[in-house]
Amino acid sequence: MLDKERLIPALPHAAQLPAIVEPLLRWYRYRARTLPWRETPTPYRIWLSEIMLQQTRVAAVIPYFTRFLEALPDVRALASVDDDRLMKLWQGLGYYSRARNLKKAAILIMEEYDGNIPLDFHALLSLPGIGRYTAAAISSIAGGAPIPAVDGNVLRVVTRLTLCREDVLKDSTKRLIETALQPCYTAGPSSSMLNQALMELGATVCVPNGLPHCARCPLMRLCLAYDAACPQDFPVKHAKKHRRQIKRTVLLIRWQDRIALKKRPAKGLLAGLYELPNLPGHSTQDEVVSFLHGQGYEISAIRPDRSARHIFTHVEWDMISFAIMLAPQSDPSSKTTAQNRYLWVSRQALAGSYSIPAAFQYFLPALS
Ligand code: SF4
Repeated sequence: MLDKERLIPALPHAAQLPAIVEPLLRWYRYRARTLPWRETPTPYRIWLSEIMLQQTRVAAVIPYFTRFLEALPDVRALASVDDDRLMKLWQGLGYYSRARNLKKAAILIMEEYDGNIPLDFHALLSLPGIGRYTAAAISSIAGGAPIPAVDGNVLRVVTRLTLCREDVLKDSTKRLIETALQPCYTAGPSSSMLNQALMELGATVCVPNGLPHCARCPLMRLCLAYDAACPQDFPVKHAKKHRRQIKRTVLLIRWQDRIALKKRPAKGLLAGLYELPNLPGHSTQDEVVSFLHGQGYEISAIRPDRSARHIFTHVEWDMISFAIMLAPQSDPSSKTTAQNRYLWVSRQALAGSYSIPAAFQYFLPALS
């Protein structure tokens, strides 16, 4: 059971929630999609899938999940994987801290649990990268614990069912809904199925974008938002703070058949990944030439290239770029300063061995 949330006010109309269990489970038995992590719901597969599914759609996750599982089939393999290989396996999913936390947690599971993922909610919560939702999902889906796993899909379904107008971006609202759902859960396989059924309904019927498909919803007769013809008014989200805008100038520097890359610092945004060299702000062509001359490079051609925007959780990069060709006779590896030490990588190696974050992927076509 979750902690008692005595200070949280009751959700209006929560008393009717236990009535959803039977029709929802009946619907789920026939309508659940076949997904690779559902076939054999081991704790490792559930953990991995839940981390990948944060911020990423199911269809996009499936090939990554399959590939990752082939490469790193268990906690032991994950705990000992080389960081660059891990980043390469994660490349394209974004939010790379998720992968780093997976490895950190795997190391702890090897050290403290002899390689067996704990199924206790609080033990899971103490591992890196595992929050309340993921801990509840693993302990209920893999272990049958009677704990509601409340993600965005479940928040949407429950706020529509109960006409809850609390801001779903607040943690207190998630707690409110966890508490309201608790009476629906009993220990055993139905808890696992109930969590999956709620998530599935939110993903396929009570959908986030556009109108929900109420006509084929098993909960239509119990839904207050349907009754009041206002499902689109839920969930209520108050505006987030504006993201900080950061300008950058990306340099696509080629020398013979090689491309300049740089490893990002071990801490902070996109830590430890490989980036195209870049300068803060929007530089003019003359400023870029002057910077590269200062580093000892001999330029044979330079031209402005594409621009792009990339949105992170708290910041937004507004990027312009220059495509630069160095003189063939120069040897750039001997001319870099310690701060601007670049790796000179062939195109083949770029595709196969280096994890380039999505923020820089916009510019790679210019290298072909
Ligand atoms: S009836 Fe419509 S709004 Fe209500 S839970 Fe079902 S799909 Fe969502």
